[in-house]
Amino acid sequence: MKAYTKETQAAISPDKAVELLKEGNKRFTNNQKAERNLLEQVDDTKGGQYPFATILSCIDSRVSAELVFDQGVGDIFSARVAGNFVNEDILGSMEFACKLAGTKVVVVLGHTACGAVKGACDHARLGNLTALIKKIEPAVEAVKEPIEADKRNSKNIDFVNEVSKKNVEMTIENIRSQSEVLKEMEDNGEIKIIGAMYDINDGTVAFYE
Ligand SMILES: [Zn+2]
Repeated sequence: MKAYTKETQAAISPDKAVELLKEGNKRFTNNQKAERNLLEQVDDTKGGQYPFATILSCIDSRVSAELVFDQGVGDIFSARVAGNFVNEDILGSMEFACKLAGTKVVVVLGHTACGAVKGACDHARLGNLTALIKKIEPAVEAVKEPIEADKRNSKNIDFVNEVSKKNVEMTIENIRSQSEVLKEMEDNGEIKIIGAMYDINDGTVAFYE
């Protein structure tokens, strides 16, 4: 597999970009990595980069976007923060990745059994982590079931995973409402903004479409 060029990047539609990620995840879960020479890709991309996707994922050591989508050097922009939410800096990074560097899709990739989401479910407080966890807590409040207080914590993994899904949905809403640049690109059909969930049990990514 070769690194993308200005021409091959331009030929990818937003739908095709999603398709490429789905195919990559299928290779990952089948343990059939695409044949690529990373050092050759380093050489191919020394004059510029033409990635096709921007992925926002958690810092979780099990959820590296390049690995789970079987991508190489110069293929994707990867933004990572515990709990995969957006702030001004992440939005700025995404605007760079889409408007200036030409990627065709923004994927907000949550994952099951997320530690940051568990922290939000438990309203954990610790140093700088407190401010981060507070950014995920609106998703906890937005999940209405179950109502019993003793089932709304990290011990209830179904609840945790529902909050993760809600957090992805709310992050997408925040991208649209807080980034005029990305909203306009989406409205013009230049990019897609979609959510997805990585299952730490089997390596699969389910796209929400
Ligand atoms: Zn996580």
